[in-house]
Amino acid sequence: MKTNLTTLLQAAILALAVSCNTQTTIKEDTAGQSSKSTSNLEYLKSIKKIDVHMHIKSEQQYLIDFMDDWNFKFCTVCTIGSRFKSLQSQIDTAKMLYNKNPRHYAWITTFDVSKRDEPGWEEAVIAELKDDFDNGAVGVKIWKSVGMEFKKPNGNHLQLDDPIFTPIFEFMALKGKTLMLHMGEPIHAWMPTYTTEDGFGRNYWAKHPEYSFWDKPELPSYSDILAARDHVIKRHPDLKIVGAHLGSMEFDVDEIITRLERYPNFAVELGGRTRYFMWQARGKVQDFFLRYQDRIMYGIDRGSSAVMTYEEKVETRKEMDYRTNLFFRYYATSDEIPWGNIISHDTPQPKATYTVKGLNLPKGVLDKFFYKNAVHWFPGIDKDFR
Ligand SMILES: [Zn+2]
Repeated sequence: MKTNLTTLLQAAILALAVSCNTQTTIKEDTAGQSSKSTSNLEYLKSIKKIDVHMHIKSEQQYLIDFMDDWNFKFCTVCTIGSRFKSLQSQIDTAKMLYNKNPRHYAWITTFDVSKRDEPGWEEAVIAELKDDFDNGAVGVKIWKSVGMEFKKPNGNHLQLDDPIFTPIFEFMALKGKTLMLHMGEPIHAWMPTYTTEDGFGRNYWAKHPEYSFWDKPELPSYSDILAARDHVIKRHPDLKIVGAHLGSMEFDVDEIITRLERYPNFAVELGGRTRYFMWQARGKVQDFFLRYQDRIMYGIDRGSSAVMTYEEKVETRKEMDYRTNLFFRYYATSDEIPWGNIISHDTPQPKATYTVKGLNLPKGVLDKFFYKNAVHWFPGIDKDFR
C-alpha cells in the first residue's frame, strides 16, 4: 500500500513537473472523484484522434462511419507482411483512399527489399518513394523480414544497419518523412512457443514457425536485431523514426525508456499492444506515460479485407466499437476493466478471466497520445483534419 501511494505521489509530481499544459494529475478514483474520470472519458471521445497503424485494403462505408462516430482519422500502413501478396495494389489503394478522402485517410508507404540485388534498386526505390511522397505518403514502413528473413550472399541475415539502406534513409530525412519500423518480434519469439504471451493471437509463433527463433542459435538474437535498429536511429539523427508495436520492447516500458533517453529522434506507437501495458505494474506504466507523453502514439494495427460480406462488416463494426470502448476506458478512467481472454482470436468471449484497473491518464496526455504526437512525428498526417 505504501509503495503504491509513493508511486502515485511520484507520478503526480512528475505530471506537474514534466508538462506545463497538463494541469491534471493522476488521482485515484474515490466515490467523490468518479465524475472526474467520466469527464476524462467524455473528453477523449470528443477530441480529434488519429490511429497511426491501420491496414485498410478497400473503401468501406462502415469504416468512415466508425471514424465519424468516434472522431478518428486512420493512417493506413503499406507493408510486406506474410499476409500481403501484392505491394502495388496496397500502395494504389492507399493512394486512392488518401486522394479521395484526405479527411479520413493518411498513408505510409513501403518498398520491396526482395529486389535489392537487382541493378539500380536503390535509385528505383528512391524514385518510387518520391512519387509516393508527392501523393501524400507521410512515412515509410520497414517490416521484420529485414532482420529475420532476408539473407545476404554470405548467408547472414540482412539487418537494418546494412549500408544498402543508407541512401534511402538519407533521402527520407531530406524530404522530412518518417521511418516506421517493425523490427524483430516480441521477446516471446525467442522463447518456447508454450510460454508464449496470453491474449490475442495466442501462439502466433506456433502458427508462424518461420518467426519463432527459439532454439535456433544460428539465427539472429532479439538483441542483434534491436542493436541493428538502434545503430540506424543513432546514425540518422535528422530522420524521425517511430518504433511500431512499442518498438518490439512491449514487455517492459524501461526498455523503451532506455531508447527514448538515448535517441531524441525516436518515438513509439502502440501497434495493438495495450495488453502488454496491462501486464506491467500500473504505476510504472502511468509514470511512463507522464514522463514520455510526447513520444507515444495510438495505433491498433487492424485491417479491413478487400472483400467483405454485409454480415462481416456489421460484425467488424460492432467489434471495433466494443474494443475501442474498452481501450478508452483503460487509458482514460480508473475503472476496473474486464479483460483476460475477453477477446480471443478476434471474437468477444462471454466472460473475462480477470480485470485491469484503468490508467486514468490526464486530458493533456490523452490529447498527445491520441492526436498531437501523430501530428508531430508524421508531419502532414492531419491534412484536412485540423
Ligand atoms: Zn501492422
